[in-house]
Amino acid sequence: MSTKFYNTITRQKETFTPIKKGEVKLYTCGPTVYDVAHIGNFRAFLFEDLLKRFLLLKGYKMTHVMNITDVDDKTIKQSIEKKIPIQELTETFTERFFDDLKRLKILPADEYPRATAHIQSMIKMIKKLIDGGFAYQAGDGSVYFSIDAYPEYGKLVHLDFGGQKSTERIISDEYTKDNPQDFVLWKAWKEEDGNVAWDSPWGKGRPGWHIECSAMSTEYLGAHFDIHCGGVDNMFPHHENEIAQSECATGEPFVNIWMHCEYLLVDGGKMSKSLGNYYQIFDLLEKGFTPETLRYILLNTHYRKTLNFSLSKRHEADQAVQRISDIYERLTSFVGDKTASASFPKVFNDFVKALENDLDTPQALALFFNWIKQTNHRLDEDSLTLEDGASGLRFIDKFNSIFDLLPGRIEIPATVLSLLNEREEARTNKNWKLSDDLRDKIHKLGWLVKDTPDGAKCQPV
Ligand code: AMP
Ligand code: ZN
Repeated sequence: MSTKFYNTITRQKETFTPIKKGEVKLYTCGPTVYDVAHIGNFRAFLFEDLLKRFLLLKGYKMTHVMNITDVDDKTIKQSIEKKIPIQELTETFTERFFDDLKRLKILPADEYPRATAHIQSMIKMIKKLIDGGFAYQAGDGSVYFSIDAYPEYGKLVHLDFGGQKSTERIISDEYTKDNPQDFVLWKAWKEEDGNVAWDSPWGKGRPGWHIECSAMSTEYLGAHFDIHCGGVDNMFPHHENEIAQSECATGEPFVNIWMHCEYLLVDGGKMSKSLGNYYQIFDLLEKGFTPETLRYILLNTHYRKTLNFSLSKRHEADQAVQRISDIYERLTSFVGDKTASASFPKVFNDFVKALENDLDTPQALALFFNWIKQTNHRLDEDSLTLEDGASGLRFIDKFNSIFDLLPGRIEIPATVLSLLNEREEARTNKNWKLSDDLRDKIHKLGWLVKDTPDGAKCQPV
């Protein structure tokens, strides 16, 4: 079966065919670095990570670009409020963002262009738009995109602008308003911008947010590329405006497939600092979540469905991740260093098909966990062949290349290993008192002993 993705612009699942055979060019809207990214942002970044990992599994060469928005109204406001130079502020939160990406095992993009390092590309694009009659300079020196000059405006979100398509309103409006009528390309400098300004043919100012993504995606991926992603809140006006700017400036179609993930809600509502349910990745790791449990929770709901996050989801996620570690351990010790020819278990085909169907992660995970259940059963009743064991390990390996839910292997210190061996000996000799004492000793060193049918296992406390 071919891969099908739901395309926001056509509202249909479409067969995915890249522009250039065997290669995929992907642009994903990155964070606005005025604060630490929250778990909702990471829902979007993890959905994009899964998409990319799946396309890599399918054998495509990927080029992935994610922008860093390091100048806009929010960054300027925060830098003034906190009395920190804007560059220092955005650098701090960009670093925090990269730390969280690593914590969640998100594959790095090929490029992370920062808006402030690409002002000249944006100015060039705005010039083209003015020359083509798609943009004009207003009285305050700002430059606006004229939506009247682009009849296809609204095609992404299927909005009919009818009578509202008047540029008169745009000119008379406050320049800071973020809606289609305020479709600003270049914002003339105002006092509240402080020293954040660049020279341009239209005077001192700074670019609007939308032009940033059009200019940088064109610079790194070309005028026309395969997939553009973001959360649903990016659809309008951000992505609608990107399409208008890019198609008018380059004269080419912009993006083939638009993919958007739904909102992450917390406890059924919006995250809010006052309710104490505004979570950042670091908070959640402190509360006992692991990178794997977070990945599991964020990927276990289909990306086009609203995801309701709550702290109570941790228990189920812990169990799911533990089941994966356990089957991996069991199969590894079952196969040992014996050689066995390995294909994939039959279910692997269905697993890939589920993902080919617009990234149906709940179905893919259900198939995987059902396979674990059956494999455990066969191990228990001694009916698994060596070949089945080896092909099972191959399946886990491919599964993990997409979901990355297997905790990294943790080195157990030699002292702990030797105490563990002593304890095994004590248990063989039915010396339960010594066995318990050794368990306590190991615990004091920060390790928890768990007795399993395959012998004692150790994990950090
Ligand atoms: P921002 O830093 O606001 O520019 O957002 C970065 C990414 O996170 C964008 O793709 C947004 O669409 C996405 N995003 C923001 N909030 C949420 C949320 N609550 N649920 C899902 N995605 C979100
Ligand atoms: Zn963007």
